[in-house]
Amino acid sequence: MNKAQAAAHIVAGAITTLFDWLADRLEDLAKWAANLVRFLPNRLWRLGSTLVFALMGIITVVPIGVRVLRRGGGRNFQAWLKSRLRQGGIRVVQLLLEILDVAGLPEIFSFIWRILTRATPLTGTEITAAANVLGPLALRYQDIRVAQRGILRLVFAANGGRAFTTFHTVNMPDLGGHQRTNLDILVHELVHVYQYERAGSRYFAEALLAQQEEGYGYGGAEGLGLARDQGKRLRDFNREQQAQIVQDYYTLAHYDRDASVYEPFIEQLRQGKV
Ligand SMILES: [Zn+2]
Repeated sequence: MNKAQAAAHIVAGAITTLFDWLADRLEDLAKWAANLVRFLPNRLWRLGSTLVFALMGIITVVPIGVRVLRRGGGRNFQAWLKSRLRQGGIRVVQLLLEILDVAGLPEIFSFIWRILTRATPLTGTEITAAANVLGPLALRYQDIRVAQRGILRLVFAANGGRAFTTFHTVNMPDLGGHQRTNLDILVHELVHVYQYERAGSRYFAEALLAQQEEGYGYGGAEGLGLARDQGKRLRDFNREQQAQIVQDYYTLAHYDRDASVYEPFIEQLRQGKV
């Protein structure tokens, strides 16, 4: 190959890459429109349920407050008011996220986010790893992208290289314990995608809240056995604990270690009970 041929080869390669990229972005845009329609009934239903709960909370707050004040006095009332305000705050955030869901914000975000990062589909190995735990039809695996580099370099510099999930995009650093080759971390993040597909964007706020409050710990196999004996279900754990339980199950099963105490919770996961 002479110099001119080599140059033409490079240019052709660059053009192919560019048009591939453009086609992917067009696909993202089309997905926004398609999902807007596909998820509308689900998203409206969630929004409606939250509105009903919020309304019930508002209607009952005064009579219950009066009762608490009468029976328990000022200190009890203060504690009660604090918990009600916190609950109210959570509901407001949930309501906002559900309104944004109806407008298709997750897809718009994905469209922009995938321009600012390098996003690639899940590989066959990654899908197999996740499907072994979650089930082959649990997620729309083909819609998921793993985003790396680009603007994420700034995010990972700020958050200490921790992977995180934004709707259908799993964000992973190039280096460190959370890099893409660590399939247990990827499985953890895909549980968040699963939560998003089942519960909507509120999972994001719930996961952040979980990080602030109880954290990821659930007591390991021993704690999980205890929880099972007390009748606790997977959905009684917070969003991060749920993801951590699945991640640990994946690791145990991968190394052929005893994971029997995890089985009932994984079964609930497969049934979509998160
Ligand atoms: Zn997590």
